[in-house]
Amino acid sequence: MNPKGVLVVGSITADVTAFSRRLPRRGETILGDDVTLVLGGKGANQAVAAARGGAPTWLVGCVGRDPFSEIVLAGLHSHGVASTEIRAVDNRTGVAHIRVDASGENDIVITPLANSDLSIDMVDESIRALRDRASVLLLQLEIRTEVACHAAEAGAHAGLTVVLDPAPAQSLPDRVWPYVAVVTPNESEATALTGVEVVDLESAERAAAWFLDRGVRHAIITLGAAGALSVTPEQTRHFPAYPVNPVDTTAAGDAFTGSLGAALAGGLDTATAIRRGMAAGALATTRPGASPSLPGREAVDELINLHAIV
Ligand code: ADP
Repeated sequence: MNPKGVLVVGSITADVTAFSRRLPRRGETILGDDVTLVLGGKGANQAVAAARGGAPTWLVGCVGRDPFSEIVLAGLHSHGVASTEIRAVDNRTGVAHIRVDASGENDIVITPLANSDLSIDMVDESIRALRDRASVLLLQLEIRTEVACHAAEAGAHAGLTVVLDPAPAQSLPDRVWPYVAVVTPNESEATALTGVEVVDLESAERAAAWFLDRGVRHAIITLGAAGALSVTPEQTRHFPAYPVNPVDTTAAGDAFTGSLGAALAGGLDTATAIRRGMAAGALATTRPGASPSLPGREAVDELINLHAIV
């Protein structure tokens, strides 16, 4: 049993994905083969990953008053994410409009809509309500930057372990970093934020040092099929990836951070939590799509046990 849960502060979208043989040229109309409508947004995806990872999970975010809100709320419920901290505001639910061609190439327009209405007051209210039942606060950057920065500060002051997935990458004020216990950028986010081009373990370690120099306690640079590099002031450690046959790498990072957060909230040590995040990330690549590809706790256990060193 997990004694404490995960509070995720982040975005919620309806992901409308059109699949066609090729992407249209500028101004062109083409016929597609299929369309899907599923729950998305980094906040929602990481909340689903944490809940499927076994942690009591609350999502702090905003939806609109429209038919899309029912779809995203039903998606969150079906995965066991608590919606008590989700506000319905006078706006429309955020939408990600995605096009994918037969080779998997895609382009995406994200329209934040209701996600822009998430306010500092709402975050404060939710942290106050849940600070005794959660121990981890998960953050990404698909909400307003000042709200994300405030959530890090308020979460740290409330005694929560703040985990920041700095995606999509954008520069943040220096004062936010000391509130971040764990940062989990992928290679391109680490490159964009630190200015160190991450191409191998050595450059990943230099990028991690950038975060530590600014007050972050633990930097985990995720490296896709090359695994993850964990850097604290005491230790640098490379974790090789779990071998899988990827079909669609969407949401590997969300699976990683959500599962890591669930494991930390469950009281597991950081190395075990990183392995659980990595196994979840690996499994997410073996199924198409974002939220539908996020694995449950049993699948993560199975993959870890399969590769346990005996
Ligand atoms: P993002 O989706 O944000 O780019 P990554 O691709 O780095 O994040 O994936 C997060 C984690 O998921 C990695 O650290 C790794 O452990 C796992 N992972 C991702 N892609 C693969 C892969 N092709 N094979 C095995 N594990 C993977």
